[in-house]
Amino acid sequence: MMNIVADLHTHTIASGHAYGTIREMALAASERKLSMLGLTEHAPGIPGTADPFYYINLKAIPRFLYGVKILKGSEVNVLNDGSLSLSRKYLDMLDYAIAGIHVQCYKDRGIDGNTDCLISCMRDERVYFVSHPDDDHTPLDYVRLVKAAKEYHVALEVNNSSFMKPEKRLNCRENYRKMLALCMEHRVPVIISSDAHDPSQVGQFGMAEDFIRECGFDTGLVLNTDADKIEEFIRFSHREDKQT
Ligand SMILES: [Zn+2]
Ligand SMILES: [Zn+2]
Repeated sequence: MMNIVADLHTHTIASGHAYGTIREMALAASERKLSMLGLTEHAPGIPGTADPFYYINLKAIPRFLYGVKILKGSEVNVLNDGSLSLSRKYLDMLDYAIAGIHVQCYKDRGIDGNTDCLISCMRDERVYFVSHPDDDHTPLDYVRLVKAAKEYHVALEVNNSSFMKPEKRLNCRENYRKMLALCMEHRVPVIISSDAHDPSQVGQFGMAEDFIRECGFDTGLVLNTDADKIEEFIRFSHREDKQT
């Protein structure tokens, strides 16, 4: 039985189409016995999300709310030229960035082009996670993705909300099955996230957990079962390892 202690991919009202305040989200995390909550508002490119200036003052948020450690992140868009939708200055203010493809600001470039763009973003020293790499509207080459995750110290996400909207995340089960088998083979860590857009969804991982179990995945590779492992993972400095 997995005990997930951290939800590292969540959105508050600052994202424009999510509905909880930071405190409502933190209270929900505390009620669900999580020790860590990652706030990862959408970066520019998603309609109605926060202006980058939002990230300037994240230090105003207490490190702990309701006994839950608050991590300050962003879900940053992968753009069609392989760049991230948030500039260096703001990225450097974050505990971590999650890189993700969103069709609101990305046009499908085919399996090789999509994989190139995503890997180019994973090379950024602040990117520690990839969100929902599971959607055949923008297909990915999982062999290349998993090898890049290994090389660039990035954990791949199994997104609980994808299982609830299979029409939006096309073939997500098949894609996760491929990805997880490769993660086992190459010893690449994964995170399970709710991608909550409302306090009621914080810490809701049931479908992703069931799926991981069904795949016979090695739960020792699930990073967010251990808060210390997460801290260690995002403290890793890429400066020597990523910047070549
Ligand atoms: Zn997303
Ligand atoms: Zn998200």
